[in-house]
Amino acid sequence: FKAAAELMESGELHFGPNRLQDRHTPATIAEGFANAPDTDPALMANIAWAEEIAGRMKESTLGTNVVDVISTPEEIEDVLDRVKKAQVKWAKKSGKERAAVLRAIGQGFENHRGELIEVAGSEAGKLFDQGDVEVSEATDFALYYASLAEELDDLDGATYKPVQTTLVTPPWNFPMAIPAGGALAALAAGSGVLFKPAYLTRRTGALLAKIMWEAGVPKDLLALIDLDRVHSSSLGEQLVREADQVILTGSIETAERFRSWRPDLRLFAETSGKNAIIVTPQADMDLAVRDVVTSAFGHAGQKCSASSLVILVGSAGFSKRFQRQLVDAVRSMKPGYPWDLSTQMGPCVEEPRGKLLSGLTQLGAGERWIIKPERLGDRLWSPGVRTGVKPGSEYHLTEYFGPILGIMRADTLEEAVEWQNAVEFGLTAGIHSLDTDEIGYWLENVHAGNVYINRTITGAIVRRQPFGGWKRSSVGAGTKAGGPNYLIGLGHVEPDFSGE
Ligand code: GLU
Repeated sequence: FKAAAELMESGELHFGPNRLQDRHTPATIAEGFANAPDTDPALMANIAWAEEIAGRMKESTLGTNVVDVISTPEEIEDVLDRVKKAQVKWAKKSGKERAAVLRAIGQGFENHRGELIEVAGSEAGKLFDQGDVEVSEATDFALYYASLAEELDDLDGATYKPVQTTLVTPPWNFPMAIPAGGALAALAAGSGVLFKPAYLTRRTGALLAKIMWEAGVPKDLLALIDLDRVHSSSLGEQLVREADQVILTGSIETAERFRSWRPDLRLFAETSGKNAIIVTPQADMDLAVRDVVTSAFGHAGQKCSASSLVILVGSAGFSKRFQRQLVDAVRSMKPGYPWDLSTQMGPCVEEPRGKLLSGLTQLGAGERWIIKPERLGDRLWSPGVRTGVKPGSEYHLTEYFGPILGIMRADTLEEAVEWQNAVEFGLTAGIHSLDTDEIGYWLENVHAGNVYINRTITGAIVRRQPFGGWKRSSVGAGTKAGGPNYLIGLGHVEPDFSGE
């Protein structure tokens, strides 16, 4: 606690000043409303602020018309040229100078917190409280990478050489924190940035870019790229072929496509996950249910860190009690749209189809719904819970990216860990148990990049929990975002013989 307090005091980290969560924990805005004593003026001001933003979300047009659509190969060449020219100047700046710009960007995100929440809610269906913490995460990236940039100035006996261009291709599910993380890391490392927001969240991307330009990033150094839909595949390929390196967060299929276009690509990719939480009879049941529900249904399950499986260990009696409590908790959640502040689970970003639609509507052998998901409206589904998931089944091994949770039952912890590890991915994993022997065994044997004990498996915090996967959850260099080696990985470190 002391170390954390010191970091916050020095301004290096501020661990997410979620406006309502600052004062009321745990807090969705809905709870804030229900509990708000109208004698607390600060809280009432925050609620008024939240209401105003939510009121604009539905009709929001923020970010429209900011993006220039690129539709020809020549235009890509032109953008690359401009970024390269601007990068030469940028790379001459010291890490300290670059850090100052990053800190200004962090301040910019804070200043535009409400607009960012508004546009992410409008485009991606992101609920107010999820958008709020995401702005905090973006700000944390700015402050943390600023401090790492300063360290690049005094690498022991080595010269740090930035690369010229980094293509940053984020997903739509975290349209602020993930692109901010990639773009800021590249800028801190002295690189120019080709920022291509996900198509579904390009207005949020445009607002982010605008904030970064206003904070002092030259417009040519950070190019905002929106590709013409008709030619997006060939133009995307051209970008991947010509950029010096690529930071991708997306599906394993996209990472593999990039690699097939260019086998020698310098790629930093965080990809898919199929993540489970193990709950043993030694768990604090209330805590476990809460964390499973949050990990499974936060942002309607559309996080690659989400838990779409819970593996219960031991007796039928324990499993029954857990499932009863889980069903109560899931049923009590209110699905809806982000402009209604009482919503607790938001819509899917697009109408479910393909794999996700089959996950929402079909059962495998031996499975049954204990809560059947239903379509409630445009892109909106109620959360679903299936039980009886068998090891090796399709549900066990597939990433769905939506509001569904499956339950497996294992006889022993050993068996549960085996099933948790049996998937091709290894992004996040969790255990709920208060028994230190069980936790020790689990830590020795679990195979995942981010492992969490007695908490949610979503919501990694910059610097405290650098984020990245093992196995097929990561392709390429494998350094973790929000961790100490990230910037070093993005450049070249050469031995410095000048003093010899
Ligand atoms: N970093 C996010 C988390 O810890 C997940 C990012 C993603 O879904 O790509 O929940």
